[in-house]
Amino acid sequence: MPSESRTKPRKCPLCGKPRDEAYKPFCSRGCRDRDLNRWFDEDYRVPAEQAPDGTMETDRYD
Ligand SMILES: [Zn+2]
Repeated sequence: MPSESRTKPRKCPLCGKPRDEAYKPFCSRGCRDRDLNRWFDEDYRVPAEQAPDGTMETDRYD
């Protein structure tokens, strides 16, 4: 069965230009950096996921 998704041109999600393989899924380093900065701005203070206290031993063979 043929895959139609192969024929669809992939575009830069930021500006819509054809993306560059080197910077996929973006078209250029500029767009990639823009997206990267956006992530840093919005999610910079992501709370570090802490392991539940004292429950490391889940496998117990009694
Ligand atoms: Zn772009």
